[in-house]
Amino acid sequence: MPITDAAKKQIAQRRRIFFKICLRCGIKNPITATRCRKCKAQVLRLKNRTLGVKK
Ligand SMILES: [Zn+2]
Repeated sequence: MPITDAAKKQIAQRRRIFFKICLRCGIKNPITATRCRKCKAQVLRLKNRTLGVKK
């Protein structure tokens, strides 16, 4: 079932893209995380990509 609501679709896309990646073990962490949930390392890389901009 496709999402027709533009606002909901935008939220869904943000949820998929906005997360942090641990530089030590490489797993995904929630955007609110300050440290890795797996290895507890505090080296998290932010993975934020601008939506709708194609380069
Ligand atoms: Zn980690």
